[in-house]
Amino acid sequence: MPYKFTFDLSRISRFFFTEIAKVGYEKGVHKKVGKTTQEMIKKFKIQEATGLNLSDAVVLLQDLVDLQVRNLLERERFVQTRKRALFLPHCSRKYMDNRCKAVFDPNIPSYFCARCSPDCLINKAVSIAKKENYDVYILPGGSCVARILMNKHYDGIVGVACGEEIRISSEMLKDIGVAGQAIPLIKNGCANTAFNIETLHRIL
Ligand code: SF4
Ligand code: SF4
Repeated sequence: MPYKFTFDLSRISRFFFTEIAKVGYEKGVHKKVGKTTQEMIKKFKIQEATGLNLSDAVVLLQDLVDLQVRNLLERERFVQTRKRALFLPHCSRKYMDNRCKAVFDPNIPSYFCARCSPDCLINKAVSIAKKENYDVYILPGGSCVARILMNKHYDGIVGVACGEEIRISSEMLKDIGVAGQAIPLIKNGCANTAFNIETLHRIL
């Protein structure tokens, strides 16, 4: 399920994401948040850069911090895993129409990238993940996660999605005992979305 608002954090300072990691670490390890969410929103001028109102900015920031906490808590278990898959969102494809040559297999269900555009974010992510021996799925929606995991066994999952989708899938992975790591979209909107490819590389 998407957020009720759209955002684009791609113009925000990289230090913002370092700060989220720091706050996430403090929350996960010491069970307290070092700085308030609202202070961070002000410090990094999130409202000015995104046009979000304060309550939407708070929701977004809290989701990013919670995601960071879950990644930290799961990291040790995740690095022990052998059989892994990467779930990518179809909304980060360069094209959402028939210029995208990915083949959709409804039985899985997943798109499979045909590598038609070297500058496509999904193409780049597939290349990196394949080198690291991941199975890669490009999903049209979060409900596909459960269907894939019913038919294939993985010890570890890396997922890229917007915060709400990540939260739902993380709860499911926890229920079935699969270790997960998540990468948030830094631009949402269900088309032409973006994530940080360096963050993906580091997590894989
Ligand atoms: S590179 Fe892959 S995902 Fe990107 S537009 Fe081409 S076929 Fe689609
Ligand atoms: S932004 Fe992408 S991952 Fe999030 S709900 Fe929309 S299509 Fe799914």
